Amino acid sequence: MSKKRDYYEVLGVSRSASESEIKSAYRKLALKYHPDKNADNPDAEEKFKEAAEAYEVLSNAEKKSQYDRFGHDGLKGGFGSGMNMEDIFSQFGDIFGGAFGGSFGGSRSGNRVVKGSNLRVKMKLTLEEIATGVKKKIKVNKLVQAEGVTFKTCTACNGTGRISRVTQTFLGAMQTQSTCNVCQGAGQVIDNRPADTDAYGLRKQEEIVEVEIPAGVEDEMQLSLRGKGNAGPFNGINGDLIVVIEELEHKELKRENENIHYEAVITFSDAVLGASLEIPTLGGKAKIKIEPGTQSGKVLRLKGKGLAAIQGYGTGDLLVHIHVWTPTHLSKEEKAWFEKQADNANFQPKDSDKEGGFFRRIRDYFS
Ligand SMILES: [Zn+2]
Repeated sequence: MSKKRDYYEVLGVSRSASESEIKSAYRKLALKYHPDKNADNPDAEEKFKEAAEAYEVLSNAEKKSQYDRFGHDGLKGGFGSGMNMEDIFSQFGDIFGGAFGGSFGGSRSGNRVVKGSNLRVKMKLTLEEIATGVKKKIKVNKLVQAEGVTFKTCTACNGTGRISRVTQTFLGAMQTQSTCNVCQGAGQVIDNRPADTDAYGLRKQEEIVEVEIPAGVEDEMQLSLRGKGNAGPFNGINGDLIVVIEELEHKELKRENENIHYEAVITFSDAVLGASLEIPTLGGKAKIKIEPGTQSGKVLRLKGKGLAAIQGYGTGDLLVHIHVWTPTHLSKEEKAWFEKQADNANFQPKDSDKEGGFFRRIRDYFS
């Protein structure tokens, strides 16, 4: 098999050719080498396929960038060699519109419905609100269709939204269609509109929207409320309202996915003697028991006191990290007492604590 030709060379365009240049180059070649018109030219089908393959790659941003960087080798799976005539003709819908009639890509009828633009709003939420889920009312300033706007049929396209043109080619007379540039395909234009509206008869208006936030959302997550955005021109459909979640920092609790962390600082004597400790939770408080002889670094796990998982099942935990506070300002007497304890065997960690006990348990928590 002969070496594949460069795709840009096949289409006769430069490497910096735009999307529309590539499309138009392929269009010309496809017409030139169309098998129906080249029954007596055996090379035509090969040329036709070669052009289709080049176009298939160069019209696809991802494949094109692969090809630009790695050449034919960059297209895995021997792309293109398996392309049959069916595949090629199925591309034609995009290239020629209705040019080849129903058999190539079908006829696209009906006016285009114009969609309004999306609105984005930020919503600040506390961890408590995230824990339970919350309904919030927000004020949005969005484009709405003003009263008193009247429309009339677009005269450029007679309300069809498309402009047809008949051109003579060696394939015969061909009808090509494109979206009407006067009405953007809507088939109608503004007849009358109030002075304070934009060219589409739209006007900004404040509106209160109620948004229901499910429990467990995360910072930067986006919720999309269909149809709550800006109105679409020409009685089109509304855009969406995109709510971007911003999680406010909690002054005591720290979030890590579904789990919540709390850093508890206890006194030296509570660590030695044990104690009962009140700690904050999401939306409340909890009492935890500090066992006598609790080491600094110990982690207590309160099952189910975290956040609901936004996807999947279950609820996270509240992890309480125990830190023993080492006293820093001692009186003379206190200092003397500690000095006396310096050699106290009960104050020394045993090797068994270090090797197989406490430290390993700490490590296990974090692995
Ligand atoms: Zn029009």
